[in-house]
Amino acid sequence: MDDRRRLWLQQLPKIDELMLVLEGQGVADRAPRPLLKELCRAAVERRRRAILAGDGPGEERPPSPTGIVDEIAGQIDRLTTRRLRRVVNATGVILHTNLGRAPLSAAARECLLDVACGYSNLEFDLERGARGLRYDHVRELLCLLTGAEDALVVNNNAAAVLLALNSLAEGGEAVVSRGELIEIGGEFRIPEVMEKGGVRLREVGTTNRTRLQDYREAVNPETRLLMKVHTSNYKIVGFTEETSLRDLVALGRERGLPVLDDLGSGCLIDLDRYGRQREPTVEEVVAAGTDVVTFSGDKLLGGPQAGIILGKRAPLERIRKNPLNRALRIDKLTLAALEGTLIAYLNPRQARAELRVLKALTETPGEAQARGKRLLRKLRAAGINGIDFSLREGVAAAGGGSLPGQEIPTFLVSVTPRTLSASRLEERLRALPVPIVARIDGEEVLLDMRTVAEEEFVFIVAGLRSVILPDA
Ligand SMILES: *Cc1c(COP(=O)(O)O)cnc(C)c1O
Repeated sequence: MDDRRRLWLQQLPKIDELMLVLEGQGVADRAPRPLLKELCRAAVERRRRAILAGDGPGEERPPSPTGIVDEIAGQIDRLTTRRLRRVVNATGVILHTNLGRAPLSAAARECLLDVACGYSNLEFDLERGARGLRYDHVRELLCLLTGAEDALVVNNNAAAVLLALNSLAEGGEAVVSRGELIEIGGEFRIPEVMEKGGVRLREVGTTNRTRLQDYREAVNPETRLLMKVHTSNYKIVGFTEETSLRDLVALGRERGLPVLDDLGSGCLIDLDRYGRQREPTVEEVVAAGTDVVTFSGDKLLGGPQAGIILGKRAPLERIRKNPLNRALRIDKLTLAALEGTLIAYLNPRQARAELRVLKALTETPGEAQARGKRLLRKLRAAGINGIDFSLREGVAAAGGGSLPGQEIPTFLVSVTPRTLSASRLEERLRALPVPIVARIDGEEVLLDMRTVAEEEFVFIVAGLRSVILPDA
């Protein structure tokens, strides 16, 4: 080892010395001492190793306490900055699973805030002054909106399916079409959920065709349930045949078996009225006589993450009493937001105006275009140099396992930077305090107006201005 490096090793700052500087700079007030000491120790150790490693990519200069202290202050900054935060979804994917799926309505937010920080009547019946059920806050609304006899809510739809299967068919068989053995992404695959629920899967039919006769022949003394799964994230096209829900319900009646329909998305309004493709509404599925229906709270419903289970009284009672229900139960914040969301549905026009998912799905391309024009005016008025803006037509998607294959006409604000590449701009937009997640097409960054709300314009205008300034 040469003298220079020996000297550098001797000059490595002591932990106590670093701690004094951190205290002087106020960093010590922002983190526990043991953590700061550990960070100091690790930082000094990294420098020691770099010096010992010799002239590779190691140290070029003697280690300075200031450098180490700055590094640690940076680490504490990062730890005390919230990682989970709002972003602007400019991707055009309305139910973007990675971006938190459905945004809540203002009314749902009010409900949530109202119960969040105080006590609430979560499980207290204010009329009787006695214990109540958390499900009662949304049961009546759900029954009214769907025609179901009874309803229950849990953590998410995966939990709803697991709980329903386990409650109704544990130890026995459930019959499902081969064309419906779906994977939703992540770890949710129907055959695996079934196994975890203690239910044996009896596959019937083929990928593209399953007839009533296939279900009928599969029924045996071990059968506990007939199950239908909405193929919510793909389509089987061509030579296909699907057994109708009504036929399956009739078979269930004949054999004394309950029918479970995992709808996945669960739509409460007629989307075909707004030019979207036909999705069976929950009301129709209930009216077909389905015993149990499950769907998500944060897909087409446009509310918080939740699993909604509704249908006939007797199977719902079995589901409610299952001890597994306690493990999957919904929390009070979700419940509050869900109630606020469901109240909006009592007036469908209000639901379309308040719930962003419904608004984005049902508004005309003209409305997206008008919003795009307003954003364009604001961007041009902001005097941002080095970027060309224009408006053009494009295609948005429902996403989140809803309306597969459906192309939704939209308008895109095209952002073409002159001084940096589109991918560099897209990267900078993602690094903003309110990140903007956009698409890239060649040398353009595209902001899809279907998923951008008027109140988010401020983030886009300020964001684009700040990402361009450094190079201007
Ligand atoms: C999305 C989906 C699920 C899972 O619902 P989560 O709310 O994400 O847990 C289950 N089944 C179907 C058919 C779905 O589309």
